[in-house]
Parts: sequence; structure tokens; C-alpha cells
Amino acid sequence: MILPIKTYPDPVLGKPTEPVSFPLSKEIKKLAEDMIDTVRKADGIGLAAPQVGKSVKVVIINLEKSGVPLVALYNPKVVTKSFAKTEIEEGCLSIPGVFGMVKRPKKVTIEAQTAEGKTVQFTDDGWIARVAQHEIDHINGRLIIDVIKKYTQGAEIVEEWRAKKLL
Ligand SMILES: [Zn+2]
Repeated sequence: MILPIKTYPDPVLGKPTEPVSFPLSKEIKKLAEDMIDTVRKADGIGLAAPQVGKSVKVVIINLEKSGVPLVALYNPKVVTKSFAKTEIEEGCLSIPGVFGMVKRPKKVTIEAQTAEGKTVQFTDDGWIARVAQHEIDHINGRLIIDVIKKYTQGAEIVEEWRAKKLL
């Protein structure tokens, strides 16, 4: 089922999230399924539960178009990060029309749980690292507009939010 995507300034995007417990409840299983349908339909490379209005630690990474199988991560966190950083243009399904350069650690190790509750770790220095960090920011209530220093598109939208004191 495709869920509506919450957009800024919906307060759910900044709310703290609860960890999920195992075995997964029916509700969380359904949420993950629906998030997968939603991210594919939106042609997004990632989606975090707050973006569909749920304050829980569930994220989807969808790099299928780059040949990486889609993955659902539960309770993901960054456990180590490289000192080296890269600056890449990012956008967000919850902030349509706004893009900007975001500097993040190039290489990270992520720890998360699978749908079966197994703890896994993976290290990446490419797109998976980038998307995982963006989605983990979401479950911590942090958005690209909190970290972009140089806008490449939609700077006027952000200016308007600033004028309205939303940012
Ligand atoms: Zn996002």
C-alpha cells in the first residue's frame, strides 16, 4: 500500500523515534512493506518511517536501480565514520524542490537489525553510506535543511521558511 509522504514543516519529521522490538509486530511488518511500496512508487533512493508519519526506527534503502538489492533496516545507527568527508548534492522526498550540497563522512560502518532481529554491520564508502546517513538523520529528526550550507535549488523556498520563522 502506498502511503502519503509527509513534507516539511510537518512536525512528525522532527520528532524523536522509538526503537522497534523483535519479533516484529504485525504493525511494523506492514509499515515496512508499505514503505517499500511507497519508496519504489516515489522513485526514491531511501525512506525513513517519520516520512510516512511513524515515529519508529525503520528505514528503507532503495538502490535497486544501481543493482543493489532493496533493504529494510531496523534500529540502524552509525557506529564508525571516517575522518574523510565528501560533499554531494542531496534532495529529500519530504522537502520537494530543495537541493543542496551536504558534507558527510565518506566511509561509515552501520549497525542495524534485520527483519528477523539479527544484528548486522556493514561498511561502505559509496551510495549506500550516503543514503544510510541521510535516513539515519531522519530517524534522529535531522533534515537536509539542517545541514545544507549551499543550496543548488529551492533556496527561495528555504528563505520563505526562514522569514516565517519555521527554520
Ligand atoms: Zn530525506
